[in-house]
Amino acid sequence: MSDATFQAPVGTHDVLGPESQLWEGVIATFAQLAYRYGFSMVVSPLFEDVGVFHRGIGEASDVARKEMYVFEDRGGRRLALRPEGTASLVRAFVQHHPVTPWRAWYLTPAFRYERPQAGRYRQHHQLGVEVLGSDDPAIDVEVIALAVRFFRALGITKFRLLINSMGHDACRGAYVEVLRRYLGEHEGELCDEHQKIWSSNPLRVLDCKKPSCVAVTTRGPQLPDYLCDDCRTHFASVVRGLDAIGIASVLSPRLVRGFDYYTRTTFEFVSDVLDSAQNALGGGGRYDKLAEELGGDPTSGIGFGVGVERLLLVRAAEGVSAPLLKRTIDLFVIDTTTQDAATTLVDELRGAGFAVLRAYDQRSMKSQMKVADRSGARLALLIGPQELDSNEVTIRDLRSQDFEQAQTRVPRSAIVSAVAQQLSK
Ligand code: AMP
Repeated sequence: MSDATFQAPVGTHDVLGPESQLWEGVIATFAQLAYRYGFSMVVSPLFEDVGVFHRGIGEASDVARKEMYVFEDRGGRRLALRPEGTASLVRAFVQHHPVTPWRAWYLTPAFRYERPQAGRYRQHHQLGVEVLGSDDPAIDVEVIALAVRFFRALGITKFRLLINSMGHDACRGAYVEVLRRYLGEHEGELCDEHQKIWSSNPLRVLDCKKPSCVAVTTRGPQLPDYLCDDCRTHFASVVRGLDAIGIASVLSPRLVRGFDYYTRTTFEFVSDVLDSAQNALGGGGRYDKLAEELGGDPTSGIGFGVGVERLLLVRAAEGVSAPLLKRTIDLFVIDTTTQDAATTLVDELRGAGFAVLRAYDQRSMKSQMKVADRSGARLALLIGPQELDSNEVTIRDLRSQDFEQAQTRVPRSAIVSAVAQQLSK
């Protein structure tokens, strides 16, 4: 326990270097891929009118009922911190009428009042994409392919893609009635919570991970058997498309995911190396009614969100340690004179594009050398009284064991080209 007066709130965490370099790598990898797939970044508010989420993810969803951070601002507005990314992005789409198909990617914190445990936080971070304006199954395939490519780029390979179709209003509606009747007959076998609320939204019972509910719903009527012809054809095209590009999927008839906005394709990526309470890397699906729910014209949409913390956990559990970004310090400047020479030299070298660190506080040569060694820099540039007099700089290769060979002295005016030459060796 630290003796600091304040700690990060329960369920939240600080990410400092060097771990944060992995975050930078994950985000940069995603941004580059998203660009390759034609997505543009969207930045939108972390809080919204609570109605965006009530209508979006559904008032009856677990997240809205039990986990959302809802508050009143000083103007009396009822707001909520975003528990996920999709509803806000669709709200932005409806508000701004961008050209379709609209392809957006985002990075967002997501806030949920959960019971904190490894891999489960009250503030976690999601990377995601949304495509609005087409229900072409080719888009479902592309979006899933992007996620798979992303995991592989991070070195994550031990995961499965679970997939299902939720149908559209009419065929899902018919299924919900059959399911409601079935759950009514097995009410007493459900978990305590669902014994009370199964009837208002029977699909939520399919999402329950408690063994009692799983046992009942596994034996019960299955959604894919109730799809209409159009939804069935759509789903078959998605599975065929995935197959054609070498992505295996596992049909999971009870996969409805936690939010009410899903229609047709739903999917989830589960890791084989984490325990089942936290094994979801990410997931998503189609939401062809969401834009309308939020007051817009009927517009099909699909997207996914993946958890950054979860990705890093899985990556570590799979034993992947390769860095994602090449972040190295090129030069370390040591000045044992007045240190004014270091100020100008560092500025010039950074201006020329090198990554440069230096020591401060008039430390001794020995102590500056130690910091230089720890910094991981390739070269140390030394300015002592002799160098100052002769207007030179000593370059020392920090990776060389041979002291004589490691050092060269160059004119101060030629330092940029001399350093560039040494670094290219
Ligand atoms: P969801 O929006 O619930 O579909 O979650 C998308 C992804 O975000 C999940 O698959 C996890 O990777 C991650 N995630 C969701 N909730 C949490 C949480 N409380 N803590 C950490 N990661 C989370």
